[in-house]
This record gives sequence, C-alpha cells and structure tokens, in this order.
Amino acid sequence: MKTLQELTRPNIWALKPYSSARDEYKGISASVFLDANESPFNMPHNRYPDPLQIELKKKLSQIKHVPIENMFLGNGSDEAIDLVFRAFCEPRIDNVVAIDPTYGMYLVCAEVNDVEYRKVLLDEHFQFTADKLLAATDENTKLIFLCSPNNPTGNDLCQAEIEKLLKSFEGLVIVDEAYIDFSSQQSFLARLGEFPNLIVLQTFSKAWASAAIRLGMAFASCEVIGIMNKIKYPYNVNQLTQKQALDMLHRYHEIVGWVKNLQSEREHLEDVFKQLDCVLEIYPSDANFFLARVTDAVAIYNYLVAKGIIVRNRHSVSLCNNCLRVTVGTRNENNKLVEALQTYKPE
Ligand SMILES: *Cc1c(COP(=O)(O)O)cnc(C)c1O
Repeated sequence: MKTLQELTRPNIWALKPYSSARDEYKGISASVFLDANESPFNMPHNRYPDPLQIELKKKLSQIKHVPIENMFLGNGSDEAIDLVFRAFCEPRIDNVVAIDPTYGMYLVCAEVNDVEYRKVLLDEHFQFTADKLLAATDENTKLIFLCSPNNPTGNDLCQAEIEKLLKSFEGLVIVDEAYIDFSSQQSFLARLGEFPNLIVLQTFSKAWASAAIRLGMAFASCEVIGIMNKIKYPYNVNQLTQKQALDMLHRYHEIVGWVKNLQSEREHLEDVFKQLDCVLEIYPSDANFFLARVTDAVAIYNYLVAKGIIVRNRHSVSLCNNCLRVTVGTRNENNKLVEALQTYKPE
C-alpha cells in the first residue's frame, strides 16, 4: 500500500479542522454551559450533539467488536462514500475503479466530485476477479469500490478475490457491507487489523430497520478514520439519531429475529416466484432482496405500479436486462405482489 499521505489530497492532509465548542471542552463535570451560543430553553434539543458520538460508538463497539478509534459515523453510508472522494481523490486527476453493476451512489459521488469513475463489468455469475479490477487501475487510482452482498444483484462477492485485491492494490479498497447481516458470509470487519487499506461500510438502513434516522458506519484504520473525522461536518449525526440508534442497539435480539424472518420470507418468495409464468430466472441472493429476470420488465413494472405495488426496475442497468429487483417485505406484502403477478397477462 502507498502511504496514507501519498493517498490523501495535499490540502486535506494539511487541513487544520474546525474546532467546535464541544471539541474544545470535552469534560463532563461542568454544569453551566455558556460556550456554544445555544439557548438554555427547550431541553434536551437545545444542546449541540456530541461531534464524535462517543456513547453510541462505545455501545456499537461491543456489538461489532471494533475499537471506537476505528469507527466513523455519518449521515448514512452515503456521507462516508462522499467523504472518501473528498479526502482521497484530486478532482480531474485521480480516478476510482468499481464493479459494474453496483450501488449507484459511488458513481454519483464521483461525478459530484469530478473524479473519473472506471467500471469493470462483473461476469455472468455477477462475480469479479481481482486481476480484472487491477487491470483497470493506474498510478492515479485511489479507491476501488466493492459491494458484498452486491446491490442490485444480491449475491456475495467471492471473499478470496476480495482478499487478493486487498493484498495487491496500492490504494484503498471500500467493501460496502450494507446487507451483510442477511448473508452467511463473514464480515471483513474481523480482518481490519490485517489490511490497512480496507474500509468497511455498514448502515442502520437495512437489517437495523432504521433508514429514516440516516446513520451509516465506516470502519478502517485509525489513520483513515482520523482523516474522515477531520473533514466531516462538526455535528454530522444529530442528537435524535444518536439517541434512536442507541435504543436500537439495546434491541439487538429483536433485530436478529427480523433478519431471520426476512431470510426465510425471501426463500419462500423465491420459491413462489419460480412458479410464475412471467418470471424467467431468479438470481441467488444473500440479501433482503433478489433480482428476477422477467418476460418484460418495463411492462410488468408499470402493471404493478398501477396496482399500487412498487418494485425496482433495473432493466437499464448493466447485465440486468429485463430484471426487476424485489425487496422482501412482510408475508402479507409479499402475497400481494405474488397475487398481482399471477394475474398479469402480457399485452
Ligand atoms: C442501501 C444501501 C446503502 C445504505 O445507504 P445509507 O446512506 O446508509 O442509507 C449503502 N450501500 C448500499 C450498497 C446500499 O444498497
């Protein structure tokens, strides 16, 4: 791996971060806070939240078995994705490489940050090889984006190839594990210590059933986390979110139950889908959704919309011709989808 200084944009490396009132006074013994121009009224919403979310991180640390120095929390994983571009990629000079198809935010963030985005097509099993990704890199490639289980294809990426990439790529490898709780594969979190160039992304939006609170996690070396913390907005995770996330962490066993439920519902839904005339193929999934190739994705999508049922049309995505992406819902919701598809008649 290159040194972190070589990988970081020079202006970011040299940056002295904004120091907020909450940064300068970190003690807990004071009882009169007249340092941040807050209002003394409307408790508890009058106070700025903890900029580094220490209480939340400590609880997360117990569940994830990662020290808090190796954690970044942001306004969704989307914030972490944007920050790695801003920290490491010099606009119009550096580039990033990503599998294709994958989550759309990597490309959007690349374009916003004016950074070249190089796509490397997956194979017919939606798998990649480290060699093919490396062949797309050059001396200005700072980041490689992987997503496992991948969105929209639903499958785990091959762990041995991820490992090979981590060992041979000189820049940073982002492994987006938004759906890892639904997968039987082991998270790369346990291997952070082995790979200084690894950034693992997870989120409260999927298995943790908290998309509304906007809380994403990035796990990496403390040096990489330090850079992300240096450039984030000072109060990027609001107090309501920190509180709600802590409540969710105390409901850990309930989450485990939801995940099991969705896993078995997915299997059930896949079985039923196989019997449908309009379904040609179902791709293996390790997530809470699956990709299905249908006879006519656009027509079926519109037919479902007219019945008030929304799935994701992925017809125009690479390798996903005539594919719909179906999120697993409750048994009742899934049944409504199936009933609608059973009565679908092509024009
Ligand atoms: C849903 C999803 C996320 C979650 O993003 P948030 O900003 O945390 O809601 C991240 N990565 C992938 C691949 C996703 O599908």
